[in-house]
Amino acid sequence: MLRGMRLLLGLLSILTLTACQRAESPVQEQQFIAFGTLISVTLYGVDDPLAQRAFRELEQSFHQMHRDWHAWEPGPLVELNRALATTGEAEVPGSILPLLVPAQRLSRASGGLFNPSMGGLFAVWGFHSDDPPQQPPSATAIQEQLIRTPSMADLQLDGAHLRTANRAVQLDFGAFAKGYAAQRGSELLRSLGIDNAIIAVAGDIHAIGTRGKRPWRIGVRHPRAPGVIAATDLGDGESISTSGDYERYFEADGKRYHHILDPRSGYPAAGVASVTVIARDGGTADASASALFVAGPQDWPRVARAMGVDQVMLVDTEGRVQLSPAMAERLHIEAEPAPPVQIRELP
Ligand code: ADP
Ligand code: MG
Repeated sequence: MLRGMRLLLGLLSILTLTACQRAESPVQEQQFIAFGTLISVTLYGVDDPLAQRAFRELEQSFHQMHRDWHAWEPGPLVELNRALATTGEAEVPGSILPLLVPAQRLSRASGGLFNPSMGGLFAVWGFHSDDPPQQPPSATAIQEQLIRTPSMADLQLDGAHLRTANRAVQLDFGAFAKGYAAQRGSELLRSLGIDNAIIAVAGDIHAIGTRGKRPWRIGVRHPRAPGVIAATDLGDGESISTSGDYERYFEADGKRYHHILDPRSGYPAAGVASVTVIARDGGTADASASALFVAGPQDWPRVARAMGVDQVMLVDTEGRVQLSPAMAERLHIEAEPAPPVQIRELP
């Protein structure tokens, strides 16, 4: 009887201890929706009042970025696009200017494979809607977009005054904004005195500091199977972005049509299932993941070099993995059975 009591007391104290440990856990997490996706914020070693304030301010900031940069809901970007299409010029609001300049530079470096001025084409595909499209557009509708050759090089920025010689330019930062926002969010956390955190905007993640004694560890989603294909530690101030053909797509007549479009053909880029890039700058990681996806399984090393990124993983539609040498050094393949892996030198 007594022994039974002791056991029970012993059990109770273990339970209480676990409960206390949980209450004092140094890790705090919060999730919310913005950019049409789940955003997950994890803080390490932050006291509760500051954590609550950080979560509140981050959520507000992400909702503001969502409104400022939305490519089809009424707001400053839609107004800017309307002005470019009708008069060929516009004043760029302060909220959009910090995206425009790096997006133009990255587009040029990618040789136009990352082309955020092709909002007209993305709209024709029906990706300017919260509901996925059912059918691809007609070949004629696609050609009508391509022959107008919108390019970031058509844009001349003088201070905040933007002018375009090509009225087909329609800005859409969908391949750039989430990586940029993840980094912007982490800057907000740093300004509040938080030095250990990670912000994940779906597949665009930025880390600051560490998770206590351990670095932050990231799993890269397998593009075709549940679970992760690979994992890596992420250091202070590093960004990782993955673009995949599983994120937004529809199937028609047994074919998969995803939302990363090849500006040369006007159709979804072929041959790649996902691309992951690690870079310091969040916008660079995001935009280059999309550009290398478009570049494809043969040509991506050349485009990576041109865009100044050297840590890349590409998974092709056959499930084969290609790694740049710098990525091979830090990334662990987790999928079982292990996929075939090829190391590709950058030119
Ligand atoms: P995800 O949103 O899944 O992270 P991406 O970062 O690759 O994927 O962004 C895809 C979005 O970027 C599309 O929905 C579209 O708005 C835009 N986009 C598609 N193709 C291109 C391209 N070649 N260059 C620039 N933006 C693109
Ligand atoms: Mg992207």
